[in-house]
Amino acid sequence: MSTRPSASRPRDTTRSWPALLALCVAAQALIAVHASGDGQYLNWLDRTVRPDQDFFHFANGGWIKANPIPPDRSYWGVDTVLEQSNQEFIRALVEDLARRPDSLPPGGDRRKVADFFISGMDERGVEAAGATPLQPEFSRIAAISSIADLQAEFAHLQTIGIAAPLQVGQMQDFTDSTQVIAFIGQSGLGLPNRDYYLQGHPPYAAARKAYQQHIARMFVLLGDSPSAAARQADMVMGLETRLAKASMSDTEQRDPRAIYHLMSVRQAEALTPQLHWRQILSNLGRPDIDSLNVAMPDFFKAVNLELQRAPLSVWKTYLRWQLVHACAPYLSQSFVDEDFRMATVLSGTKELQARWLRVLRAEDEALGFAIGEMYVGQRFSPAAKLAALAMVKRVRDALKADLQTLRWMTPVTREAAIKKLNLMEVRVGYPDRWRDYAALQIDRGPYVLNVLRAKEFEQKRELAKIGKPVDRSEWFMTPQTVNAYYDPSMNSLNVPAGILQPPFYDVSWPDAVNYGAIGATIGHEMTHGFDDEGAKFDGRGNLNDWWAPADLKKFQSATRCISKQFAQYTVAGGLHVKGELVTGEAVADLGGLILALQAFHGVPAAPGAALASGTAQEFTPDQLFFIAYAHSWAGELRAEQAQELVTTDPHPPMIYRTNGILANSPEFQQAFGIAGRSPMVKPERCAIW
Ligand SMILES: [Zn+2]
Repeated sequence: MSTRPSASRPRDTTRSWPALLALCVAAQALIAVHASGDGQYLNWLDRTVRPDQDFFHFANGGWIKANPIPPDRSYWGVDTVLEQSNQEFIRALVEDLARRPDSLPPGGDRRKVADFFISGMDERGVEAAGATPLQPEFSRIAAISSIADLQAEFAHLQTIGIAAPLQVGQMQDFTDSTQVIAFIGQSGLGLPNRDYYLQGHPPYAAARKAYQQHIARMFVLLGDSPSAAARQADMVMGLETRLAKASMSDTEQRDPRAIYHLMSVRQAEALTPQLHWRQILSNLGRPDIDSLNVAMPDFFKAVNLELQRAPLSVWKTYLRWQLVHACAPYLSQSFVDEDFRMATVLSGTKELQARWLRVLRAEDEALGFAIGEMYVGQRFSPAAKLAALAMVKRVRDALKADLQTLRWMTPVTREAAIKKLNLMEVRVGYPDRWRDYAALQIDRGPYVLNVLRAKEFEQKRELAKIGKPVDRSEWFMTPQTVNAYYDPSMNSLNVPAGILQPPFYDVSWPDAVNYGAIGATIGHEMTHGFDDEGAKFDGRGNLNDWWAPADLKKFQSATRCISKQFAQYTVAGGLHVKGELVTGEAVADLGGLILALQAFHGVPAAPGAALASGTAQEFTPDQLFFIAYAHSWAGELRAEQAQELVTTDPHPPMIYRTNGILANSPEFQQAFGIAGRSPMVKPERCAIW
């Protein structure tokens, strides 16, 4: 439920449920562009576009023309520009350490940060090694000779971050948010999601064809003959397609009750007799676990069937594929290039990113909080934190006032909603306690083994939480991340230091601009506590029907209004936005905009806080607020990336996060004098908050 997808995913990342473990997948890289220093960015406007026709391009057309998507990107926006600047800053920190690694205490975080980077940048060593560092892993798979061996290998691969075809992890119990339970989830598709295997639209069909060829080419790189490789690619595709059919859709997974089936290990084994959960948990080092959430029972019934139906050779081929697929980005150039070739099909990216960026991304996953600790020490000021907290307070007050006066809400629901809001925890900047990486072993290579050890460390850390009380101090985003998130099980709003910078926020900017940009993002996260999904959890983070039935009905019809509106929108290739998939994010966008505007209106006008020179005459404060809102979504996607995101991402495309939301705002229309028939006015306005 974060507000931003990242470089590969649009802004506002959502913390997925159950807390999914990151796979060993290709990182996307960034290139350099410098942000302007001016809070209003009036040179971003395209004055040939009328604000009442297409506000997104009116506000951002100039920026988009001046910032074409770099060849090594599938998406380029104001957030990626900031992320790029964060990365360059971090690169300088890390390179400084990597120049003098032996002066750093062995076993300490800074030494690990240096050694990881050195191993990744050692292109010659990586090249010479090819895929040989993975040989012990391939031998394990080759030695599988029974269903029992196969399941032991599922568990083993899981320990190094390769979740195929299942994922074992931890989550806060939906019904007792103080406790951590085990969950098992569907996993193991090499394409972005089930639609890519099953839908007939041309972009999906093209991706399938390319994927099958890609699998075969990878097998050839591993030394197979082309004919054997083609046969094996066929096997993999067949098995993955059957798993895709049994997979729960992303839209279905948005209902927490649909992915909550807590049962004993014995019951799980009765459900899927071929899958020996007790043994798998034991292989994962947790034989003591006696209950778990079987998140997607139908998927596991299908795996159970495939264990009986598919020959062992098919399963072994599939695991061999999953291993090389996950690790290709960290192997020699031929693997990296082949991996990238598939990425271009899915994302439209034209060039591979610079090595240092790819290594830093892998390092961010492996040691992100160690890097974050160095980052905030130098790049986050106490003043920024205080000012951000003050904005959060104003947005929270606006939501409280709104809840107190909403006409459609009855007193009992109103009281529960305000209680939930009062319990919401706000965290800004970085965690109070830093992550302990002492048990993680990092050396100077092979690079891929550093990556796998980091996955293993993370997997152990996650599984160790099961059966213990929740650690409320943990963050799920590193401090350097250009994003924010709301966590429904924690009922917490989290704003990392990384986003509290231009173009989202600057302490010297006029309030109109800060509230339109970061203020709306804060409001977005806050209303996630009250979107169609968040509304199912109470103030303590437990699934709970705290709504009076009549209120819930009104609320649901209001959110349906949003789903219907957004389902009308399309992206390149004619693919439609999935209305139900994006409901939560669109509802949060609308709520965030309204709350930020109310909060802004509540700020007493400080006599000294004049607008930047040259702008006061041209735009009113409200107009500046809406321009800043649109600016926070400035960016452009390649067609392939737009198609992937519209298929998998719960966030609507950025143009609709701007135009689709503003068209529901009478305050926006009033500010720009837009009346009557206009694409920026919805005849049937959706209103929730
Ligand atoms: Zn969100």
